[in-house]
Amino acid sequence: MSALPLSLPAPGEQALAPYACHPSQSRGRRHPEVPAPTRSEFQRDRDRIVHSTAFRRLVYKTQVFLNHEGDLFRTRMTHSLEVAQLGRSVARSLGLNEDLVEAIALAHDLGHTPFGHAGQDALDECVRAQQGPDAEAGFEHNLQSLRVVDELEERYPRYNGLNLSFETREGILKHCSAANARKLEQREPGGVGHRFLERTQPSLEAQLCNLADEIAYNAHDIDDGVRSGLITLDQLQAVPLFERFRQQTLDEFPTLAEPGAGRRLLYEAIRRMLSQQVYDVIDATRAALDHSAPASVDAVRHLPPLLCFTPAMRAESTQLKQFLFKNLYRHPSVMETTGRARQVVRELFDIYLARPAEMRERFARRPDVPRAVADFIAGMTDRFALREHERLTGQRLLS
Ligand code: MG
Repeated sequence: MSALPLSLPAPGEQALAPYACHPSQSRGRRHPEVPAPTRSEFQRDRDRIVHSTAFRRLVYKTQVFLNHEGDLFRTRMTHSLEVAQLGRSVARSLGLNEDLVEAIALAHDLGHTPFGHAGQDALDECVRAQQGPDAEAGFEHNLQSLRVVDELEERYPRYNGLNLSFETREGILKHCSAANARKLEQREPGGVGHRFLERTQPSLEAQLCNLADEIAYNAHDIDDGVRSGLITLDQLQAVPLFERFRQQTLDEFPTLAEPGAGRRLLYEAIRRMLSQQVYDVIDATRAALDHSAPASVDAVRHLPPLLCFTPAMRAESTQLKQFLFKNLYRHPSVMETTGRARQVVRELFDIYLARPAEMRERFARRPDVPRAVADFIAGMTDRFALREHERLTGQRLLS
């Protein structure tokens, strides 16, 4: 008797378009492995990511609001789940590989430091202030996400990292400086750094995760911004993309404007805005695909970006981003906490650099001290970083 029910499709055999990433044509793993009996290579990647230590840490890492500021704000974990949800919706209707999209989306922020962008900027400054080849490389969270899945996870007996497929790693490395791409190219000729030197595109699944990331954070940052009280629905009237759906919702449900109606108006306007952006991406991308008709993922890689908004939606999304930047990310109260978060990261960096033995043993014994310190700090959750800072300085900067 067969071990598998005969009605099950072979692993990875779904209705994929010719321009999608087909698991059977994957460019493979750095350490070759026997295929899994019931899962495609990208399902396997997704599962490895979900079981990783770095993935579990995302629960306690800041997206915009520091993790301890409220239980309902997005964290890197819930953000990554929302990116995966949006990405899979679009992938299914374009015939792209949903498993690959999910794998990339769940891994895309694994390299983020504690305290969001403030933490990453502080760590980048610290690394750059050192002497030696690492100084030039600085700290880039995209590259760090790749380091997490390639090197830093310790789960398998035969190799470091998660040994993910090329296509998943290609999607994780969303941006990369030319200097860092050249280094990657030396270690892995023709590998994931190559496209930044050649200026070609990644797969459509990777392009999709990039846009799904933007759609997700624009929407959830409105929600979290209003929840925090730092931005108001009145202020948001200046953002046409949101205002259109707020007005449409109110026309249909006028009672939602009444005091005591709660947040349903906000949620419904965001829901409609999200749907509209998803439909827009699908329409604009279908038009681009009809026009250039790529016959394979390699053809996709040599064309201009195909996964896109319409020009009108691109303009409106940029306006929304600018609004959030000015009114939320640069809000004095956000700036004050992020200022202290930077101080925590800077002081931790200096202390570990001077006294590497204060770090966990696997980092303490590494000869490349500044990079080991950066890896150790980058892996921390917000609350672990605060506890370590308090242990080493006696000060509690954020509580
Ligand atoms: Mg993200």
